[in-house]
Amino acid sequence: MAYSILIIFSLACLFTGSEGAWSYGETNGPSTWANTYPACAGSMQSPIPLFTTNTSIDLTLAKFASTSFTSSTPTASTIKNTGYSLMVSLTGGYTLSTSTAQKLTGNYQLEQFHLHWGDNTTGGSEHTLNDVRYFSELHFVHRNTKYSDMATAAAQPDGLMFFAFFVQDNSFFDNLQIAGLTQFLPNVTFLNEEVAIPVVPNYNHVPSAVVGDYFRYKGSLTTPGCQESVLWYVFQTPVSISAAQANLLRYGNSIYSSADGSTPLLNNYRPLQDPGNRNISRTFSFGSASFQSSSYHLVAICIMFVASVL
Ligand SMILES: [Zn+2]
Repeated sequence: MAYSILIIFSLACLFTGSEGAWSYGETNGPSTWANTYPACAGSMQSPIPLFTTNTSIDLTLAKFASTSFTSSTPTASTIKNTGYSLMVSLTGGYTLSTSTAQKLTGNYQLEQFHLHWGDNTTGGSEHTLNDVRYFSELHFVHRNTKYSDMATAAAQPDGLMFFAFFVQDNSFFDNLQIAGLTQFLPNVTFLNEEVAIPVVPNYNHVPSAVVGDYFRYKGSLTTPGCQESVLWYVFQTPVSISAAQANLLRYGNSIYSSADGSTPLLNNYRPLQDPGNRNISRTFSFGSASFQSSSYHLVAICIMFVASVL
């Protein structure tokens, strides 16, 4: 991996449109979304609470490998304040091919990634893991390449595939994947601001946790219109960032959902939805490797730090 520049950050999901008048607040908040977007009241909505105790291991399901990702480099990347999140969009993202090992039916191309977060008192991950709500959650959005664009794909049951990573602020060191992005935050302080960022090989954007254990289930977009078109892979091992990096978001003094700086962008996560009787599978045995994350990432970050100094 190239450590010097990298990415992360964003959200809003796909359709942050002006037709929206939706929000995460009390006015036009999540409890009202279904009034305008009926799919938000569906039976396969996301996010959901995840537990190691009431999901089932699927012995036929395998982890992803670094070789699962093409090594192409996007031709362009931008970071944008959508009013609902910060979103990094890519032109020419990697493609994950049909794979029986991960039960991925179709070829899925990375389109964008974005972040959900809380504030200085509460976490802002969308899913929860064993009742833990992490500081934030990172979403990688992939489109089934048999559909020509995101809007078309979102209307199909096999249209989209998301990677979700929990993010926790427990690292002594800055996360270098994020450090390459935070320099651009002053350029996207206000609604609809967007700036080009350097392109790096696709896989360098993806947290190392992607080769670890995960939960897999069928769900929806977590923003209106809440289309039930998403195959979710939620990775068990959180991404670790420093408190200083988390502070750039949690105090609401650097990113705003409005053009005039009157409304801090905070708590951009949807409340938990009813899992119902959906099949939620996982790659790992109960109790295995659940809490390996912190030490693993600390070692990884140390190695990256040394590598960047040499
Ligand atoms: Zn999202």
